[in-house]
Amino acid sequence: MNNSPLQNPSLLCETTWREIDLSAIGSNFRAIRGAIGPNTKIFACLKQDAYGCGAGKVASILCAAGVDAFGVVSIADALAVRKAAPRKPILMYPGIGPSAVGLVRDLDLTISISGEEDLASWLSIGAPLKVFVKVDLGFWRAGVAPSNLRRLMDVCTSHSNVTVDGLYAHLSELGDAGSSTLTQVARLTPHLAGLKAEGRLPATVMVSSSESLLNHPEFDMDAVDPGALLFGLTRSRTGRRILPIRPALSAIKARIVALKTGHDSMGAPPDLPGYHPDMRLAVLGIGWGHGIPRRLGSSASVLVRERRAPIVPPIHLEHLRIDVTDIPEAALGDEAVLLGSSGADRITLPELAEAWNTDETGVSCGLRESLRRIDAAPIETEPRRRGIT
Ligand SMILES: *Cc1c(COP(=O)(O)O)cnc(C)c1O
Repeated sequence: MNNSPLQNPSLLCETTWREIDLSAIGSNFRAIRGAIGPNTKIFACLKQDAYGCGAGKVASILCAAGVDAFGVVSIADALAVRKAAPRKPILMYPGIGPSAVGLVRDLDLTISISGEEDLASWLSIGAPLKVFVKVDLGFWRAGVAPSNLRRLMDVCTSHSNVTVDGLYAHLSELGDAGSSTLTQVARLTPHLAGLKAEGRLPATVMVSSSESLLNHPEFDMDAVDPGALLFGLTRSRTGRRILPIRPALSAIKARIVALKTGHDSMGAPPDLPGYHPDMRLAVLGIGWGHGIPRRLGSSASVLVRERRAPIVPPIHLEHLRIDVTDIPEAALGDEAVLLGSSGADRITLPELAEAWNTDETGVSCGLRESLRRIDAAPIETEPRRRGIT
């Protein structure tokens, strides 16, 4: 896509947007591939519109990079991925039900089965089904309990129109709140051994997503299904695999749409934190309607003309006030940077996540569709040599 305003006139009127660095996604994918080697498949988890980065474009990038398959939850994401990737397998994580059977057939989707009731509801439709059986190793969410896994496999294989292509789990990675990764995987190991001995092990066994991929290389198995890691939302600093991961969400920007110094004729000033009579306020064309949380940390600021301007709460649906008293050159139409760099200063994703009282995935997935996505220029890793074209 060309983002020049002349090629794309609507950008001229845009008051706010996010910038997605698609090259980071390709590069993160290659880092993961390099770490796990060629024999483990990568199911790219593109749920929540590819963690806010746009499922269709991300699927195209990953197809070009050699992804093996995709995982999504919603039909909307499945449609976007199928359009971009006509032939790759798409695994539906638990979410859709038998009413979607027409789309499951037309889009050639693989469904997840989490229990006998779940299977029975799909069987009542009478259509052929490609399934992955999902097992719950301690997340206490979707998935069959390990003790019922073998029976569920038996029931699946007793139906000739059901093909079990895989067996997978999503590990709980909530730290102290659940069992360790080792304990969780140990709940599956004896069943895998049993199924293998009987020659009934499905072709794809998969348990690792971002955190365990970084921390437990021994659990790569046949496939892994990372999400956050592909988008640079999980940092790889302390794990056993240290990967050169970059965030795909590279900037959030908004223009100054109004500027003013207070005046008595507007009545008493509202209860604005830090208010003083000479305060110069700028209003940005972004608000909680675009996905900014309504309550921010007290240190939240943006960059205007390479300087920090504090956010002056409360935040409104379409607008956000900042204090530009110390930036007299701030002008209407200026770009303010909520995430990203302005000159030498930079607001990083971890810093923004802290100000927004969330984590990096919370920022990326919390942005709304109304916050337009544009392609960021890839970050240059080497300075361009002058005079060579
Ligand atoms: C979200 C999700 C993933 C990806 O998890 P990350 O921690 O983002 O890597 C993988 N599998 C399932 C079933 C999921 O719901």
